[in-house]
Amino acid sequence: MPDAAIMPAVIERLKAAVGPAGVVDEAAAMAPYLTDWRGLVHGRAALVVRPATTAEVAAVVRACAEAGVGIVPQGGNTGLVGGSVPDAGGGTIVLSLSRMNRIRGLDAPNFTITVEAGCVLQAVQQAAETARLLFPLSLGAEGSCQIGGNLATNAGGTAVLRYGNARDMVLGLEVVLPDGAVWDGLGALRKDNAGYDLKQLFLGSEGTLGVITAAVLKLFPRPQRSETALVALVDPAAATRLLADLRQATGDAVTSFEYIHRAGFDLVFAHIPDSVDPFATPHRHYALVELAGGDADDGLRSALEAVLGRALEGGDVHDAVVADSGQQARRLWALRETISEAQLKAGPAIKHDVSVSVSRVPEFLERAGRAVAEAMPEAIVVAFGHIGDGNVHFNLSPRPNADPAAFLARSEAVSRIVHDIAAAMDGSFSAEHGIGVLKRDALRRYKSPVELDLMRRLKAALDPDRIMNPGKLL
Ligand code: FAD
Repeated sequence: MPDAAIMPAVIERLKAAVGPAGVVDEAAAMAPYLTDWRGLVHGRAALVVRPATTAEVAAVVRACAEAGVGIVPQGGNTGLVGGSVPDAGGGTIVLSLSRMNRIRGLDAPNFTITVEAGCVLQAVQQAAETARLLFPLSLGAEGSCQIGGNLATNAGGTAVLRYGNARDMVLGLEVVLPDGAVWDGLGALRKDNAGYDLKQLFLGSEGTLGVITAAVLKLFPRPQRSETALVALVDPAAATRLLADLRQATGDAVTSFEYIHRAGFDLVFAHIPDSVDPFATPHRHYALVELAGGDADDGLRSALEAVLGRALEGGDVHDAVVADSGQQARRLWALRETISEAQLKAGPAIKHDVSVSVSRVPEFLERAGRAVAEAMPEAIVVAFGHIGDGNVHFNLSPRPNADPAAFLARSEAVSRIVHDIAAAMDGSFSAEHGIGVLKRDALRRYKSPVELDLMRRLKAALDPDRIMNPGKLL
């Protein structure tokens, strides 16, 4: 916390650094920057600044560094662990990247695009599409999350199976360091082993080591054809067998493989207008599958149908809907993409974002499901997620007769049970959402002393005065 007496002078310097268009200091206008998407975390800030250039970001950070004022970088504010919201002290500032939203360039033969951190993910996808290329990062929040936030959280999403996490799509970064210096690491090289790979420090660092201001991202050829199917399965083990068969039969053309327990669809059908069950009868387990190929006539459809046919005969699959049009595919995807929104509308939820190896997901679902049923019979398990990456959103909602406050009061105890099971299976308690403030205790519990010490040494080396996103992650 800075000395309160110096705050007015610092505030004036910050305002001068970004100009009137970059200042948000009126209470009602500041409010959206001070709470998270789920409304779980609330904070206060001395000021919100919205710099428009890297030089302005550097001037803001320098002013804060000299005065010892904490900085909370913020992108689209869609993060799910409270990392983008300031603490309740009111002595920090929020640095929103939303005005830094220019596409700086697209190099088609190099398959790269250079973008500023405040570009909304969907705008980057569209810029790639305009050049008949693909930027494959895709997630439910893509209409509002920003590329800087995606990189700072190393976002996952629905295409990790084929293209990797956000980290895997980055060739270069521009970062304003905690002392205000600008690191121009905007290289567009696919090979560069000249020393440490510095960009990796900032990818996934949740704003605790510097402010990402721009990035060079990899682009890919656009698949000419894709196939989407919603498959009703007998159990989660059938899902992992189906995934393996599809990968083998299609030359690894599977881009997405999402698991949905019926409880997730029940929430969607109850809370999302115009959502319709594509099957005549309800099933317990589903997989949403997407395959993509480079060629308009590459036999993807026949391979998909052959695999599904075998799985039907073998008893793994009850039924399947293969989309006949892009519109039908989008409708199937909407059922998956709106589960989080439906769960938010349904009331309180206890959320877990765990990962285990793909082959052990059925065992995790079985063990964690049994443990939760014993410890918290008032909870409904709403499990869904990127099962093709071993990542399950093992969420809990209260049964209709349960008291919501009493339900939420049990969250720490039940999360401990779920996370302990993931840890015992060599899994992670945070597959893609990061640490923020909501998972700091879990980080301390599940990371080894050596790992924690390394993280603290990195933080101390880059940000000795701890002004970058104070109180987050570590
Ligand atoms: P913010 O929420 O603004 O910030 C997130 C963190 O990054 C904070 O710690 C912040 O300080 C830091 N930060 C932001 N910008 C910068 C910057 N320029 N420089 C340095 N630090 C910065 N996540 C997934 O991984 N996969 C999913 O499938 C997924 N689905 C989602 C679906 C919904 C409906 C919602 C609401 C969220 C989902 N998320 C998912 C979580 C969230 O969208 C991602 O974490 C996203 O990457 C956050 O981007 P943002 O711009 O909103 O970042």
